[in-house]
Amino acid sequence: MTTTLTSDVNATLQQIAELTAAGCDIVRVACPSQDDADALPAIARKSGIPVIADIHFQPKYVFAAIEAGCAAVRVNPGNIKKFDDRVGEIAQAAKETATPIRIGVNAGSLDPRLLAKHGKATPEALVESALWEASLFAEHDFHNLKISVKHNDPVIMVRAYELLADQCDYPLHLGVTEAGPTFQGTIKSAVGFGALLSQGIGDTIRVSLSAPPVEEIKVATQILQSLNLRPRKLEIVSCPSCGRAQVDVYTLAEQVTAGLEGMEVPLRVAVMGCVVNGPGEAREADLGVASGNGKGQIFVKGKVIKTVPEHQIVETLIEEALRIAEDMEEG
Ligand code: SF4
Repeated sequence: MTTTLTSDVNATLQQIAELTAAGCDIVRVACPSQDDADALPAIARKSGIPVIADIHFQPKYVFAAIEAGCAAVRVNPGNIKKFDDRVGEIAQAAKETATPIRIGVNAGSLDPRLLAKHGKATPEALVESALWEASLFAEHDFHNLKISVKHNDPVIMVRAYELLADQCDYPLHLGVTEAGPTFQGTIKSAVGFGALLSQGIGDTIRVSLSAPPVEEIKVATQILQSLNLRPRKLEIVSCPSCGRAQVDVYTLAEQVTAGLEGMEVPLRVAVMGCVVNGPGEAREADLGVASGNGKGQIFVKGKVIKTVPEHQIVETLIEEALRIAEDMEEG
């Protein structure tokens, strides 16, 4: 999701371009004011990826977003004035333009009626809210919906989506909302998405961090690659080091990772601290090093191609990685 003022078209398009370059496939922009709504047509037209308008408070912005040509509109029924009374009109407008609507239920803004009934934002409460809103759209014969039931607790979130997947066939957008700063948020997101995606539940994801949005895309991309839901690119297999290590594995792994950042080919590089497990892992990878006695044995496709002094390990790995990547790109 962008963090710029949506009304600032240039800044928003610039950020969308950065997110796209980082691997984002679909982007959401906030639309809390008329100025933002006025900016949507230009953003939807010029963005290189589909733009979802995020609507809170005012139903009139839903219509503006549909007219603007947004790829979809996200509504949070819990905080849109008299939303239930306007569903018929929204369904009609969305139907005419074949615009999907995402019903985005959030623990923090749950319908007060359901909050009172369930006592708090339980998985059941989140699901009941989402399915109630979906049923209002269904009454108007509108089914082009996607649903999210986000919670900041991955355990509750996972249960909510499991219940939802049992009870409906709508596409689901996954989110661990307000997951926190990068370290905590990354782990919570990986746990929540991993549990659901490995069961085949979930169609789109949003990582939500207290960090710049490009960081969210990097985390999301890694999660999808780790689940083999996106082709893997650079993968560093590095050992945790132990009392047998004969080289500073942490620094080595960091330097190799930094030197190969942005590599676009699926290259597996093993950085191993000794000759116990080192040769085995290094042999399995496209490229690897097994270190020991101040030297590094460099493996390419399972074979030792050379042995270099420790201070040349990083540059040799980077050199070889670039050469292999070039071969891969050509062939
Ligand atoms: Fe320890 Fe060697 Fe395994 Fe690294 S590869 S964790 S140094 S045994």
